[in-house]
Amino acid sequence: MPEILIRNADTILTMDDTRRELSGADLLIRNGQIAEIGHDLTTEGELHDAAGCVVTPGLVNTHHHLYQTLTRAVPGGQDALLFGWLKTLYPIWARFGPEEIYISAQIGLAELALSGCTLSSDHLYLYPNGARLEDTIAAASELGMRFHPTRGAMSIGESNGGLPPDSLVEAETSILEDMIRVVDAFHDPSEGAMCRVGLAPCSPFSVSRDLMRDSALLARDKGVMLHTHLAENDEDIAYSQAQFGCRPGQYAEDLGWTGNDVWHAHCVKLDEAEIDLFARTKTGVAHCPCSNCRLGSGIAPVRAMRDAGVKVGVGADGSASNDNGSLFEEARQTMLLQRVVNGADAMSAREALEIATRGGADVLNRPDCGRLMPGKRADIAVWDTTGIESAGSWDPAALLLAGPQKVKHLFVEGRQIVRDGLITTIDLPRVVENQNRLARALSS
Ligand SMILES: [Zn+2]
Repeated sequence: MPEILIRNADTILTMDDTRRELSGADLLIRNGQIAEIGHDLTTEGELHDAAGCVVTPGLVNTHHHLYQTLTRAVPGGQDALLFGWLKTLYPIWARFGPEEIYISAQIGLAELALSGCTLSSDHLYLYPNGARLEDTIAAASELGMRFHPTRGAMSIGESNGGLPPDSLVEAETSILEDMIRVVDAFHDPSEGAMCRVGLAPCSPFSVSRDLMRDSALLARDKGVMLHTHLAENDEDIAYSQAQFGCRPGQYAEDLGWTGNDVWHAHCVKLDEAEIDLFARTKTGVAHCPCSNCRLGSGIAPVRAMRDAGVKVGVGADGSASNDNGSLFEEARQTMLLQRVVNGADAMSAREALEIATRGGADVLNRPDCGRLMPGKRADIAVWDTTGIESAGSWDPAALLLAGPQKVKHLFVEGRQIVRDGLITTIDLPRVVENQNRLARALSS
């Protein structure tokens, strides 16, 4: 691959160890990595003039359910709380198969890419009608997105006191077998990996304690990460106390679900002791502000988490509970919600962007991503600040206050997957058409 030089950027927000910001600077990409950042760099390769642009690390999405892009704004779930919302959607998801999983992942990932995201995790916890984790891996690979799919699972159906219908749950032995299969087939532990697999039983209210414990043991044996939903809202806390006699933090700790190789989605209701537990154990959090607003779950104590030293990234969460898939929006909403609770000086636009880039990469244990430094992966977002959204801004680098919501260019591992605001790697209009065809079939 030829070298690529992004030159003369108005500002490069590096998110490096000293959070340097360079003006009128250049960035050189070689072999999928950042080779150099500075002034007056040259190349024999490809040139991109970035005058009028702000360059940042690609955004990192730490929580999603890509398959849900096929069930956005479903009427029965539009105004329901979490458990009611799930009960509306479960029967629709039970009709999905491989094609639905694949196309909805294409749509969800392309939408993320246009919002500046270069690395996304995904939490796929249902496998109806022959669907498999690789249906999403194929979508990410074709688009060129760096991808951390997780093998999710549900095992307690309605007949055993769980929330999902029996048709959407799997036997725990088959779940563990498939977890082993997908890790062996698709997990790449090497630096610069484009695909890393994690293990992710859906939530404490849809799997048994045994599966939580066994998947933690398996993850450590395989050297992969663990992910689930935790402490999402008041109903979730009440369920934990009624079923397990403890708060979610205690439940997680007892089953081996704390540590540097674990990250939990939402954590809206973590109390002080649980924040301290997460900080001590280096357990990560995927903060999903738009979903938390959409479902009325509350405002996660992100300021307190960050002050205590908890690793925090942002997540779009499933497209059926958002129903948007813009990581730019999530980063902005992270900033706004902390201000609602703690005042206007509680979180700057730059700190929120840091959480959405470097912060997310740290949650996913990817120190090779999320910052622009020589030797790190060339995952780069170029934002055009000459347009209407930035007009009149005295500080265009404060992107989350006044800036474009979509990228001009996006590079993943040095490969350009968005050029002038358009996806280069897949035929997006055709994918949108396919997606709408499937959505119509499901709703009729
Ligand atoms: Zn979720």
